[in-house]
Amino acid sequence: MDNCLFCKIANGEIESEIVYNDGKLIAFKDVNPQAPTHLLIIPKKHFATLMDIEESDRELMGSVCTVAKILAEKNDLEASGFRLVLNCGSGAGQSVFHVHFHLLGGRPMKWPPG
Ligand code: 5GP
Ligand code: ZN
Repeated sequence: MDNCLFCKIANGEIESEIVYNDGKLIAFKDVNPQAPTHLLIIPKKHFATLMDIEESDRELMGSVCTVAKILAEKNDLEASGFRLVLNCGSGAGQSVFHVHFHLLGGRPMKWPPG
């Protein structure tokens, strides 16, 4: 997708600190971290929002949970807990329109989120 920031990160056009890459999903450090650990997990395939995925994307999108677990282990977040967040649409706070999951940890989390 032309002019998509996260597509450019996924194809290496824009630099980022990539911490995971299995060919279909990548994870990288958020440039403006909201917690000691703040990673973004994205499919390389472009979807503007979660509402753009299709039935055939079930396996790809489901595998995000497994990647989140792997990264939580790598960052020692099992005991303290962590949060996996997806903002869908500008009303929910989405600012980059390429589906991404925030993996946040390393500090106490409040509920409900703001
Ligand atoms: P959203 O608000 O769409 O759920 O989250 C977008 C996230 O992308 C924000 O947390 C923001 O800090 C992060 N972000 C925006 N631009 C860049 C960038 O160029 N590089 C990285 N690594 N993260 C970015
Ligand atoms: Zn994209």
